[in-house]
Amino acid sequence: MRGSRFVDSLDDGRTVWHEGKQISRVAEHPAFKGTLSTIKLLFDMLDDPQRRDLVGYAVPEREHYAHSAFLVPYTHQELAKRSLAFSTWSAETFGMMSRLSDYARSIVTGWYAARGELSALDPHFASKIAAYYEEARDRDLFLTTAIIDPQIDRSSGLDDPRIAERFLHVVKETTEGIVVRGAKMIATGAPYAHDFVISSFLQFQDNHRDHAHVLIVPANSPGLHIVCRESFADDRRQNHPLSAKYDEMDAVLFFDDVLVPWERVLLHGDSSKVLALRANKTVNGLAFHQNVVRFVAKLEFVTGLAFAVAEAIGAAGFLHIQEKLGELLTQIDVIKALMFAAEAKAVPDPSGVLVPELSYIESARSLGTKYYPRAIEILQQVGAGGFVQTPSGVEDFYGPISGLMHRYFEGAGVSAEKKVGLFKLAWDLIGSPLGARHLLYERFYAGDPVRGLANHYNRYDKTSLTEPIWKLLKTNSRGETAPA
Ligand SMILES: Cc1cc2nc3c(=O)[nH]c(=O)nc-3n(C[C@H](O)[C@H](O)[C@H](O)COP(=O)(O)OP(=O)(O)OC[C@H]3O[C@@H](n4cnc5c(N)ncnc54)[C@H](O)[C@@H]3O)c2cc1C
Repeated sequence: MRGSRFVDSLDDGRTVWHEGKQISRVAEHPAFKGTLSTIKLLFDMLDDPQRRDLVGYAVPEREHYAHSAFLVPYTHQELAKRSLAFSTWSAETFGMMSRLSDYARSIVTGWYAARGELSALDPHFASKIAAYYEEARDRDLFLTTAIIDPQIDRSSGLDDPRIAERFLHVVKETTEGIVVRGAKMIATGAPYAHDFVISSFLQFQDNHRDHAHVLIVPANSPGLHIVCRESFADDRRQNHPLSAKYDEMDAVLFFDDVLVPWERVLLHGDSSKVLALRANKTVNGLAFHQNVVRFVAKLEFVTGLAFAVAEAIGAAGFLHIQEKLGELLTQIDVIKALMFAAEAKAVPDPSGVLVPELSYIESARSLGTKYYPRAIEILQQVGAGGFVQTPSGVEDFYGPISGLMHRYFEGAGVSAEKKVGLFKLAWDLIGSPLGARHLLYERFYAGDPVRGLANHYNRYDKTSLTEPIWKLLKTNSRGETAPA
């Protein structure tokens, strides 16, 4: 089964650091064990004849069932197949695992799909990305992205040598490839990814050519250090059902003179080309589509939890609780409507690839940064003190105070044990370190939300909205048309 193959493949000499120690076997470490067992089951779906069509497709002329993130959509049916794969994995993980590689795989698929157009940026781009796309698809490679430069001093730029030497840059070119040095933050899922999709984000001046790049870097490259944050994994499943299974680790990457072979250097040395690649609509439409589909699953999960909590304490009948639960339903409807609209209004790119409408997708991603914190706030308001009115463990249900436990933790039409389980699940989402990380994630995973909305405005064809205003003003109060 490919889940086991995936886990075994991580024993590849990568350098992963956690709590000051280098981890020799990622798969056996308590920080990753639970999460990897979740990913293993997801990968195995592709080998299950009953379920593989939910997440995969038969690759023509290959005896291989690949994840549908690799499917290039030319028809609405193929776009729906991609959407189904994203929603299936998201539903399995309640939207809690955002970087199951289907996002980064979609970036690679987008580059491959648009390779004809993107050849204008570099004549070797098409052949390099075609070879890599096929390899990633056929070997089920787990990919993640690391785009952002380390947060050192945001008031300073590359003219400051302290910044320039720390942001990822080329130090040497050889016949084999380029040697890069510097750091990247943040790479979610890094300790168990096969390859990193690395790019730069800033608008560089020409004198900073060495900082402009788009690379695919194997996780086991010599000199590459994967430096993990504190683990939020917790194997006490009854207390922390989410942390036990879904802590997708975040890491910073240190590149201590890492050789990236030429075939994995997609672009380098020209910031305008790097930015043109980043702005490509085919790539962004296919990749960001996954973000929105996954987010629907997350909102449905929070909403389901809020409903259950309200029912379990007999609060569902109160008007202000109903108003808040109704607000959660509105959130789901808005994001779903934007997702459906993006799919329905998908238009073919120059090579016929059907690309979800980016404007709707961007709107959904921007709204998500506000919706999720509000959804968590509502959940807190619904359950109130109940989240801390839970015992430290469930053992007391079987000990000397068992009778009292069943009496005093009982809910409204729900047993004490069930109610405690529900509130522990909800607390794992709103109050645990994993929950806090999720709040941060939803605010920032799509980039800085402030600059995201500003970019939406800047890219928008504003004349379609301003033209009617100027037209209206051409008519003065006496109904006469004023001169232009
Ligand atoms: C949990 C988590 C997981 C993530 N996973 C990934 C991942 O897998 N891959 C990946 O590539 N990225 C990932 N990210 C990174 C994410 O893309 C960045 O956090 C995001 O782009 C914001 O950048 P920053 O964190 O460097 O914030 P900063 O840019 O440092 O911003 C800090 C604050 O300063 C403000 N600010 C900074 N500069 C400016 C400016 N020039 N103009 C106006 N305001 C400014 C911002 O608005 C913000 O309020 C992840 C982030 C989180 C929180």
